[in-house]
Amino acid sequence: MPLGGHVEQADAGAGVQPRVPVRERRQRVDGVVLLAEVAAVLQIRCRHLRTLQGGVVHRRPVGRSHVGGVDGLGEQSLVPVGLLRKVSGHIRRNDGSGLNVSPAAVRDRDDSATYKPNRTQPGAMTDEAIDHRRLIVAGTGIAGLTAAIYAARSNNDPLVLEGDEPGGQLTLTSEVENYPGFPEGLSGPDLINKMKEQASQFGSDLEHGIVTSVEGDKRPFRVELRDGTVYTCDAFIAASGASARTLGVPGEDELMGYGVSTCATCDGAFFRGEDMLVVGGGDAAMEEAHFLTKFADTVYIAHRREEFRAEDYWIDKVQRKVEAGDIEIMRNTELLELHGSPEEGVDHVTLAENEEGYPSEKLDDEGTETFDFDVGAVFMAIGHTPNTDYLEDTGVELDETGYIVAKGGKGGDQTATDVEGIFGAGDVVDYHYQQAVTAAGMGCKAAIDADEYLEDLPAVEAESEAAAEADD
Ligand code: NDP
Repeated sequence: MPLGGHVEQADAGAGVQPRVPVRERRQRVDGVVLLAEVAAVLQIRCRHLRTLQGGVVHRRPVGRSHVGGVDGLGEQSLVPVGLLRKVSGHIRRNDGSGLNVSPAAVRDRDDSATYKPNRTQPGAMTDEAIDHRRLIVAGTGIAGLTAAIYAARSNNDPLVLEGDEPGGQLTLTSEVENYPGFPEGLSGPDLINKMKEQASQFGSDLEHGIVTSVEGDKRPFRVELRDGTVYTCDAFIAASGASARTLGVPGEDELMGYGVSTCATCDGAFFRGEDMLVVGGGDAAMEEAHFLTKFADTVYIAHRREEFRAEDYWIDKVQRKVEAGDIEIMRNTELLELHGSPEEGVDHVTLAENEEGYPSEKLDDEGTETFDFDVGAVFMAIGHTPNTDYLEDTGVELDETGYIVAKGGKGGDQTATDVEGIFGAGDVVDYHYQQAVTAAGMGCKAAIDADEYLEDLPAVEAESEAAAEADD
């Protein structure tokens, strides 16, 4: 039995199976769901072969070449009833002999050929099948999508989970001029859409889902989503990116979305003709300020110290706007409070300035000046926090700010974490480079690392099955 699975000897043409409780039925129907052979008949590309083991649907990627290896599986296999109906009477084995599946036999098998739908709710695990994936990638930013492209091409059948910020940070970037291969530049959303298309084209499944927990101490990993969906998987790539930081000052939460924003590209146009404040001194702050000059009367940049963190490229661009009178820079200045209401938006802000920098830490100093300042919109561009909360109890090491500590180094397995089979890529790992192209590179590495891990997995599985049997 070359493809694994506990295949029960059963005749496809056998009579009606008696109704039995779910648990018992599950044992009876353990076997191989023969999508591969059906696909071969239909001349369609087949990517999955489902095996049902202990109530869990395992999806394994297969190619047409596997079909010949499924010796005699016709009589023993479970084919999803809907699909079997479509092809009944037409299935042929590689040796040319038919499976002799009649519509009546299909009807008869309605009961026995039950495998559970993909999803189940937590708590129902014992009685319901859970969709098992060879590889789950959390995140559809540039790292996650690159991982998906590579993983799909390695036949690892990735399920790619798209969170609340689909496409990640890049979708908030208006112009990407430094991504190799696009000398004319392109927009962040364009790049992401092209990558999604490429990932899907090679067979990745993209679905919406926020991962809330991963159980790293069991094999396969149990992955739970916010909506209660549960998957299991053999390998997991965390590429869930980072979310915009906020200051935590009074008025910020209340006015978020009403004049306060973390995305100039998304919200700038709503405040046409207003004076706008950008907080931060990195590339994002410079890029946002530059972008906002399209709409603002004047853009002010408040940065907490003298030197900008941003690249010279952005500083020069902003400087040209300063010379044109479109941007004004307020160094050594911090935002203390926002005033306004959801109905009226931002009315004004309170700022503090101290020429030594970091004025909010020196509010009682003589050198600190606190003052109100009129602006109609405020854009926070003060960096990001990695989205790794769901990894906290997995055994994956996170640093004090939540970034995954990956193995790194020169050889293979650079994206490996402390938990074998869990890998990290992109902004969940990298707090230094944080570039689209470096995230893509890490996504690629994670997919290759995961592939190498999955190649060795049968041995790991055998070990854990033996351990489980010993427990029983
Ligand atoms: P960064 O971490 O580079 O910069 C954050 C800025 O916010 C810093 O200037 C920091 O000040 C300031 N800041 C942080 N916390 C506070 C606070 N509590 N109060 C006031 N100011 C604060 O983040 P970015 O989002 O700008 O950039 C992240 C990465 O993405 C970088 O690697 C960047 O190169 C890249 N990027 C590239 C772009 C492009 O090339 N098109 C566009 C946007 C980002 P301080 O300097 O004092 O620490």
